[in-house]
This record gives sequence, C-alpha cells and structure tokens, in this order.
Amino acid sequence: MKVLKFGGTSVGSAKNIQQVANILSDYQQSGQRVAVVVSAMSGITNKLIEVGNRAASGDETYKSLLKDIESTHLTAIRELIEVRRQSKTIAFVKLQLNDLEDILRGIFLLKELSLRSLDILQSFGERLSSYIIAEFLTQEGVPAEQLDARKVVRTNSVFGGAKVDFVTTNSAITKHFAETDKMQIVTGFIASSESGETTTLGRGGSDYTAAIFGAALNATEIEIWTDVDGVMTTDPRVVPTAFSLQQLSYEEAMEMSHFGAKVIYPPTLQPAIKKNIDLRIRNTFNPSFPGTLVTSKSGQEDWPVKGISSIKEIALVTLSGSGLIGVPGVSSRLFGALARGGVSMILITQASSEHTITFAVAPGDATESKKIIEEEFFNEMASGKVNPVEVQNNLSILAIIGENMAHRPGVAAKLFSALGKNGVNIAAIAQGSSELNVSVVIEQKHLHKSLNALHEIFFLSDMAELNVFMLGLGLIGNTLLTQMRDQAEYLLTERNLRLNVVGAANSKKMIFNETGLDISLPKDEILAEGETSSAAGFVEKMIEMNLPNSVFVDCTAGDSAVKLYEKILLNSISITTPNKIANSSSLDYYLRCQAAAKRRGVKFLYETNVGAGLPVIGPLQDLKRSGDKIIKIEGILSGTLSYLFNTFSAGMKFSELVKDAKEMGYTEPDPRDDLGGVDVARKILILAREAGYHMEPSDVTVKPILPQACMDAESVDDFFVELEKANDLFEKQRAEAEIDGKALRMVATLDEEGKATVSLEAVDNSHPFHGLVGSDNMVVFTSRRYFNEPLVIRGPGAGAEVTAAGVFAEIITIGNFLIN
Ligand code: ADP
Ligand code: ASP
Ligand code: MG
Repeated sequence: MKVLKFGGTSVGSAKNIQQVANILSDYQQSGQRVAVVVSAMSGITNKLIEVGNRAASGDETYKSLLKDIESTHLTAIRELIEVRRQSKTIAFVKLQLNDLEDILRGIFLLKELSLRSLDILQSFGERLSSYIIAEFLTQEGVPAEQLDARKVVRTNSVFGGAKVDFVTTNSAITKHFAETDKMQIVTGFIASSESGETTTLGRGGSDYTAAIFGAALNATEIEIWTDVDGVMTTDPRVVPTAFSLQQLSYEEAMEMSHFGAKVIYPPTLQPAIKKNIDLRIRNTFNPSFPGTLVTSKSGQEDWPVKGISSIKEIALVTLSGSGLIGVPGVSSRLFGALARGGVSMILITQASSEHTITFAVAPGDATESKKIIEEEFFNEMASGKVNPVEVQNNLSILAIIGENMAHRPGVAAKLFSALGKNGVNIAAIAQGSSELNVSVVIEQKHLHKSLNALHEIFFLSDMAELNVFMLGLGLIGNTLLTQMRDQAEYLLTERNLRLNVVGAANSKKMIFNETGLDISLPKDEILAEGETSSAAGFVEKMIEMNLPNSVFVDCTAGDSAVKLYEKILLNSISITTPNKIANSSSLDYYLRCQAAAKRRGVKFLYETNVGAGLPVIGPLQDLKRSGDKIIKIEGILSGTLSYLFNTFSAGMKFSELVKDAKEMGYTEPDPRDDLGGVDVARKILILAREAGYHMEPSDVTVKPILPQACMDAESVDDFFVELEKANDLFEKQRAEAEIDGKALRMVATLDEEGKATVSLEAVDNSHPFHGLVGSDNMVVFTSRRYFNEPLVIRGPGAGAEVTAAGVFAEIITIGNFLIN
C-alpha cells in the first residue's frame, strides 16, 4: 500500500484534477493499492479564513466571497462531471455550502470568530475537494469514495493545531481500510476531537494526514505530489536556478521545512520517521520526474550543503542585562514562560557572556513575547538588572542545511563572506548543535538577494553571475555592449562567468529586467519598451532591485550619476566608470567615495579615467601598495594635444593644424576644451590623489597656452580668427625649441612637493616624450625603485574601443572579486 497526497495546486482546477485522475488511474491499472489524501483547492483555505474574518467584523461582503468559493467548486464540477451525473455532486456541494452559510451567518450576528469556528470553516475546503475528486474518479472508471478524515483521525481539542491520538486513530484507520476496496479519497488537514468537534492539524496539514495514514497502514512509501520537481536546493520562486535534489535525509528535510521550505510540512515526518517509511516528493505536472526521496540517509555525500531555506517574516526579541550573568535558571524561566504563553521560537542564540538571549518568533508573536517576558522578569526589570525587552521587526531567517556540513570547515565562512560582499548585515547567528544547519537573521529587504547569492556560491560554484547596470549608451557605452555581447560565450564557457545586463539607459529611456536584457539587440531595441530615464531614477531602481553581485557602469559624461556614487557604493554595489568627475572634483567627495567602497568591501574602479585603456592607475596603486614612493609623475595625458604637438612642424600654421584636427574629429567640438588644459589638469589631479596627495582641483596650475583673446572669443569661428593671429607666437616657440634640439609637448607634472602643473614645455631628445608620435599617451613614473630608469607606460590613450575594453576588464575584475 502506498499513500499519495495531492496538494492544493494539484487539485486547484478541473484541468489539474484531470491530471491527478490520470496518475491515479495508472496506479489502479497497475493493481497497486493506494490511499489518496487531498488538500482543499488552492487558495480556498485562505478564502475560508477571510470569509470568517469578514463575517466576524460585520462586513457584509463576506457573502460575495462565499459566492466566489461556491463558484470555484461548481465550475470544477461542471467541467469534470458529465451532465447526467452532475446533479448528485452539485446537490452535495450545495448542501455543504448551505451549512457553511449558516455558520457564517451565526458568526456575522455574534461578531465573534473562535478558533473552534475557524476550524469548522476551514474544514469545508477539504470536504468539498475530496468529494468532487472521488466522484470524478468513479466516473472515469476508478471506483473511489470520499473518506472524511474526521471519522478516523482523533485529536485533542486544541483548535487550529490539534494533537493526534495515535492509538485511537491508527486502529480506526486500519479498521476502515479493512472494510473497503474502493480507492479512498481522504480529506487532508482535518480531524475531530473525542467529543466529535471538527479540528485541524495546522496550516499545510494535509502532508501530516498523509503521514498519519501512511504510518497506520504500514505504507511502503508516501508520495507527496506537489507543483514543483520535488525538494529543490532552494525556493524556485525566489531563485530561478534552483534545482531538484535526488535524495535527502529525514533530518535534512525536517530542517528544510522548519526553515520555510513549504514543500513538506514539518510534523509530517514524525509518523513516517518512526516507521522508517520513505517519502517521495513528486510533481503532478511532471509525473515523469522520479521524485525526491526522503529517507533515513542523506545521500549525495559530496555536497556539503543540501538546501537553503528561509522564513521571510520574523521578529527578533532580545532579553539582556547584567542580571542574567551567571544566574542559573534564567533560560528555563524565559522559555518556560514563553511556552506557557503558546509562543513558539524559531531560533535562539545566546551570547557566551550570557549577557543577552535573543530569539526569533513569527512577527505576530513579538508583542505577546515582550509582554510575557516583562511579566516574568518584572522584579529584575524594576531593579534595573534586566533591560527593557527589545523587538526588531522586518527581518528574515535564512538557513543553510546539510548533514555533510559537519566536520567540513569553511562552509560557514563561505556563507558569511558571500553575505558580506553583498552588503548584507547579520543580526543574529545560530548553528544547530548537530551542525545540520547554520541560520542567520538578516534584514527582510536583503532576503531575495541573499538567497540568490548563496545559491550561486553553494550550488553553482562552477558558474557565477554578475548583474550589470549600464548607464549611458553613447559611443563608449554602446561599444562596451558590443564587446560584452561578443565575449559572452567565451566568458561563460571558459571563465564560468555570466554577464547579466539587468538595467540599461541612455538619456531618454531606461529599462530593467532581472533575468537579463537581450543585448544581442541594437540599443534602440533594447530600450524600446523603456520608461523615461534619469540618472537618479536609474540608480533608485537599481538599489531597489537589490540584486546580488551588482555592478554599476557609468558611461555618461555628465555629473548627474556621479553625485550618487557614494550612495551606490554604500548600498554595496561596485562601480566602474570612465567618467572622471567623481575623482577630479572636490577632495572631500573623492575621499568619501573611496571610504564608502572600503566600508562596504566593494570595488570602485576607474582605470579608464587616465590614458583610456592603458594601465596607469592600477600600476600606480600597485607601486604605492608595495611600499614604493612616487617621486615624480610626468604625462602626456591628452591624445588630442599629443597629436597636435607631435604633428606641429616647420612650415605648418598652428591654426590650420587645429582646424584640420577638428575636422577629422580629433578634438572636442570646441577645441578650447582640449587646448585650455582642463582635461589634462583633471587627469594629473587624479594621479596625484592616487599617489597619496590630498589635493583640490585648484591646486593644479594650468599655464595657459592660448592667448586670452582666443579664450574670450564668443564662438568657435571667432576662436579660429583669434588663433590665426597667434600663429606666429606658436611658430616662434616651436622654432626656438627646434634650434635647441627640443620639441614642444603639453606636459602634466606632479613633483615631489606635490605641486601639479600643466604647461607647454620644450623637451630634449633624451626625454621619453621627445619621440612620441600620433596621438599616443605616455606616463612616466619616477619612484624610489624606478629612479634611474623611470617606469614608462605608453600607448593609444583615447578611442571608444580601448576605453570600453578598459571598462570591460574592470567588470570582469569585479566579477572575480565578488564571486571568489
Ligand atoms: P502544495 O499545495 O502541493 O502543498 P505548497 O505550496 O504547500 O504545495 O508547497 C510547494 C511550494 O513550495 C512550491 O511551489 C515552492 O514554491 C515552495 N518551495 C519553497 N521552498 C522549496 C524548496 N526548497 N523546494 C521546492 N519547493 C519549495
Ligand atoms: N488546505 C490546508 C492549507 O491550506 C492544508 C494543506 O493544504 O495542506 O493549509
Ligand atoms: Mg503544502
């Protein structure tokens, strides 16, 4: 004999009941005897509670809800039962619903809903579903009949969660089954007390009913049929990559369900464990899935963690005070009082100093717990030995579970490190003494992120996912998207890294998709369905999504997102950006961003601020970290200025050169943005700060190379008129330099005193800058170690391809950091 239990979703509609009937008909044809336990149709138990509450509060709308309940059942009947047989089934259901209506009218008039009445109300769900299913099975050639479990399952009178009297129950069940051949369709969840009153076994109690019948009938196996492929590594609704487990032990299953894995209901297991009956969790909608076996052995021994469970809503209650230290019996008084008050604790931790005892309860029990403790410790509180009880709300519990965690070091470390890197604070920790679980209490808003991050660390160790938010899809942003698209396959197969672009925006539109945007589309199509964009809106949404392993990529040129960097970092989101503004505006903001990244243990990377894709900032930081001292930095830091002075030669007019460069797109639309030296000043400031100098933008001296009239010119055309007038001036400087064997270069310098300057200089042919060609950048570091031969970095320092590649490299760096 096997006992099969079908949950609410499995019997939630005519279509689903049809599916159940197929499964049962196969069993019948195989000749194997089964007893079937069913839940109420999905959502009905909740509605029955709601209808009771409405009636009790004098809300007439209870009637429409009742109609709603009625129509769910009648619709199922009409779809399942042939017309000529319908009247019998409909008559039964109507009769039940009349009873239900009478009871509700009573509740409405009395304005009182006791636990006793609530149990009666809830019992209708299972009574109706089991009857309809039995009728349908019979019609389909599987002789079946409803068994109202209240006839055989005997409990005490604790309404809402009654205790089973197994002696009476077991013999009633065996007796009943000895007398019938028909397939029994048993109401789950409900029972009756000795005096014949209707009781329930607690929410989700149909599983328990199945175990009770399984044990009484010495079943070979109990099958729990639900709507997912068995017990999964974690809740598949929260973590889409969750996958099914082949096998787990009773203890593991118990821990999983204790911490919220709804697939199995904790007390379910007791009668089964006692008799060593295997449980198999199967999927009604995928009968070919063989099921998760729950048995006495854990199985899958090479996995340290079997599952991650969570309870979304809990409250923490803390009792503390000097009066608790070394006083025997405090815990027993505390827990005794709570138990008498009917409060059940989900988790307990005690500091080793015994100064505090903290426990987690369902949010609804928090106030009651506080009251109970205040009464129990009234005297101690009055004398100040015990502090006022603290209650923290909006918390969740998350537990990693697995027998194989015992004696395996490093599992908890992995848990804490993953949570830490994702900015999740831990409010309390508890470890079961069997080392079967480690549970942590965290803020509720971080639960989703934490579950996903932990699932990745413990179950997808060979695959990591980075959630990328891209702001700015101009030339660099778009190039970056193309590079990511081209490299996606390689990163996935060779580096086990999946880049999930979950947010993207240009100045007009922004779009988000937690499962990843399709970046194989052109950017306009990616953004097609987007909403109106703003940097602030984008950042707000990104923080709100609160995804694990998040990276913010700022490819905008303006400062509207820059102002939010500190906030982003404080929300534990790493940043990479070619945007220089954050690092080259006020020192205070630069330091605040650095501090925020450090405090949260996330990355703030901006290698492309100087020299585009060239490694400049990284090597500089490495020199500093390794104890070297920077003595001097010299740089040709602008590709445009590099080009202009590398090209400027005898017989050329400087104004013509600039004009040509502008036409070829080598300069900013207004070439004064380059020639004015501001961009170079920003870059040397950033290098100076990285070298350890606390400098403000005003500390960089820019020696102007353009006459004031050029700078004052109203338009670009006027500027060129003025520049022409200065041609002789530039030619004079050039020729004088040439006579000395020197060349003009726009050089940024930081000297040992921390003085930064940007000026046009004549460098001789021994200087590395002398031989520069094209638009190359060059940075020369003179340090204590690199003294006689300075460290020189040279290469193309501009261009969308190299800049985007630099940002891309940083995204991968962040990925590796977060995930390892
Ligand atoms: P039933 O109506 O069949 O009793 P429940 O809704 O009570 O079903 O439980 C099944 C649900 O439990 C699944 O749909 C799933 O969302 C949720 N669940 C939570 N944790 C897990 C887990 N670790 N494995 C499988 N399902 C889980
Ligand atoms: N119908 C009951 C509930 O929703 C029992 C069950 O489905 O297991 O709690
Ligand atoms: Mg259930």
